[in-house]
Amino acid sequence: MTQSEQLFQQARQVIPGGVNSPVRAFRAVGGNPVFIKSAKGAYLHDEDGNRYIELINSWGPMILGHAHELVEKAVSDAIQHSFSFGAPTRREVEMAELIVSMVPSIEKVRMVNSGTEATMSAIRVARGFTGRDKIIKFEGCYHGHGDSFLIAAGSGAVTMGVPDSPGVTKGVAQDTLTAPYNDLEAVRRLAEANKGQIAAIILEAVAGNMGLVLPAEGFIEGLRALCDAEGIVLIFDEVMTGFRLSASGFQGITNVKPDLTTLGKIIGGGMPVGAYGGRDDIMNCVSPAGPVYQAGTLSGNPIAMAAGYAMLSHLKDHPEVYTTLEATGTRLEAGLRAANAKAGKHYTINRIGSMYTLFFNEGPVTDFETAKASDLKLFGAYFQAMLKRGIYLAPSQFESLFLSTALTPEHVDAILAAHEQSLAEILA
Ligand code: PMP
Repeated sequence: MTQSEQLFQQARQVIPGGVNSPVRAFRAVGGNPVFIKSAKGAYLHDEDGNRYIELINSWGPMILGHAHELVEKAVSDAIQHSFSFGAPTRREVEMAELIVSMVPSIEKVRMVNSGTEATMSAIRVARGFTGRDKIIKFEGCYHGHGDSFLIAAGSGAVTMGVPDSPGVTKGVAQDTLTAPYNDLEAVRRLAEANKGQIAAIILEAVAGNMGLVLPAEGFIEGLRALCDAEGIVLIFDEVMTGFRLSASGFQGITNVKPDLTTLGKIIGGGMPVGAYGGRDDIMNCVSPAGPVYQAGTLSGNPIAMAAGYAMLSHLKDHPEVYTTLEATGTRLEAGLRAANAKAGKHYTINRIGSMYTLFFNEGPVTDFETAKASDLKLFGAYFQAMLKRGIYLAPSQFESLFLSTALTPEHVDAILAAHEQSLAEILA
């Protein structure tokens, strides 16, 4: 029995399903989850001494690769001064100033401890600001496990087959309206049928949680216009895209500005962090400036702020990071397409910068319905074939992969060689 198998057996006795977050259990792809011992740069190492090239990167944050010296140093300096105070610190002011300087739509920002907290808080503020109850979200988008968002949810919720979770009350569920992603007409119809009742439209402007799906031309612009006309708060959930697609996130590469933005794991450089921010008048509703209550003992945690500040300030000062990530993404995408064509398959690859998904589906994949048309059995076989060859992918078709600057052209070639062999194996 391997160490990973042994640990999973132990884990199942004391942790529900043996994991602290569902997708990690490998349910969608079969087999035993790999237990990670350490990581550095582009590599993960498991408890059995195997090494993997890393394409998840802690689900997004490790833009510079694992345990980057800058972040390591910032954290080891910070821990000399204790781990938490629950009181204001210089570092959190500097962090807020840095975020505000990098993301133009954010005028004020509040730190929380996860992406889930960020999105829950953002819709509470939108409701408080507008005095309205309902929200619109998109099928297949995932915004963490807050009750209001577990309606037609993506990521682990769809991987586990529970996009609508038990435990969410009917009252909460009826305030969440859903539309297909990229379907502006459906959103307009919902807004018309619920006139004056919609507090917010929340979306992953680039969706990563049904696999990667890009916004169609005019979709985001149309939502912005609708929100302006109807007094609805537009929220971009940039938990995965923030600081990854550009130094100001997805909103840095479009001309549409949201009213509120939610951020997560990336701004902690991998430490448990989230944040929400946006228009001054909306953020001034948050306690103690205003009446909408939201709080957190560990919010603005000094270790997390130190890690996040080190990484974000590096990204701000080094625009070449994004050129490097784009070059890596281009090389990988071209190689994957060539190998697929050689195998006589024209699987859809959706990519933007350092995020991509290979769908086992000839597509196009533009929303949740078309993403779900993928061959999930084949994906599972592919995942195992790649893992065996030392490539660590997300264990579900309904996820994006994330590149880091630690990946060299040689790593990309190793991934492509494994891809070609894996395809041949699973299609045989
Ligand atoms: N929003 C998006 C877009 C996400 O991808 C995620 C998690 N991957 C979340 C919110 C929730 O973040 P967390 O898991 O930190 O609660």
